[in-house]
Amino acid sequence: MKKISIVIPCYNEQDALPLLVDELEKLIIRMKNDATFEIILVDNCSEDDTLKIMKKLHKKDKKYRYISFSRNFGKDSSIYAGLKASTGDFVTIMDADLQDPPELLIEMYKILKSGDCDCIAARRKNRKGEPLIRSMLADIFYKVMQKISDYEIVSGARDFRLMTRKMVNAVLEMEETVRFTKGIFAWVGFKTTWIAFENKERSAGKTKLPMKNAISYAMRGIVAFSTVPLLLASVIGMIFCFAALIYTVVIVFNHFILNNIVSGYSSLMCVLLFGFGLVLLILGIIGQYLAQMYLEVKRRPKYIIKESC
Ligand code: UDP
Ligand code: MG
Repeated sequence: MKKISIVIPCYNEQDALPLLVDELEKLIIRMKNDATFEIILVDNCSEDDTLKIMKKLHKKDKKYRYISFSRNFGKDSSIYAGLKASTGDFVTIMDADLQDPPELLIEMYKILKSGDCDCIAARRKNRKGEPLIRSMLADIFYKVMQKISDYEIVSGARDFRLMTRKMVNAVLEMEETVRFTKGIFAWVGFKTTWIAFENKERSAGKTKLPMKNAISYAMRGIVAFSTVPLLLASVIGMIFCFAALIYTVVIVFNHFILNNIVSGYSSLMCVLLFGFGLVLLILGIIGQYLAQMYLEVKRRPKYIIKESC
């Protein structure tokens, strides 16, 4: 019988974790003739009783394992740590808040066993229940990402997916420190089948990815998987140089041919302000890439484990 590892990143999930475990137990019973399970709970140094619950689970049932970090290294690092610790023939990643419905795993496993693909990935059909502004920004992000990146990052894609060991090993080979897991999944390739499901609201507790973190997550993704912004910066720079050249010709013509020496202060100020703003914007874009390079070059560990079993 094949073994499925379930990797679950957790940060302050004391209320959601027991509900998830209930659902997982039901799932394991339903799949008892198909596979055995290993559940790897990754604790991001939670401030509540999450780790205590994990330890209790492990004491009661050895299929529950846990890894506890020295601080919150973020969801993407937890995914990496969980995948690295996993020993199953197939591995799945699941949020702790039941927004990735565990029962979907039955269908995923069926498709993976019968088909010739290496990954069955889940995507939300809609973002019902989410604040409107957040879902609008997310939509824009995925549209932009699809345009400027060579790798297919599907709108509504979750990290929730069932992968073969081959694909997991490929993901583990991507050792970058600044991780954007959805991009990494797309980058490693492998044939992926998508299944859609209705969005679910968080089972308990509060979101750990507030708006400002979501925006920096999106920027990290763009910088990690596309260099188009850099190209765009150069193109905008070139357009402005060209416009400046034409304007210079006009000024020279005015000055020497038409003898029209009156100069416009306001138009000059507008051009100056806009020009400076643009230069700063372009420097900012370059800075984003430089910052990511800086973090990569240092080769710091992606996480530090405090305890595990
Ligand atoms: N998470 C984590 N570290 C973080 C933020 C989130 O391990 O810094 C975990 C969290 O416990 C959950 C999953 O990542 O299991 C998704 O987080 P959340 O549900 O808060 O994000 P949302 O669904 O609101 O985007
Ligand atoms: Mg959630």
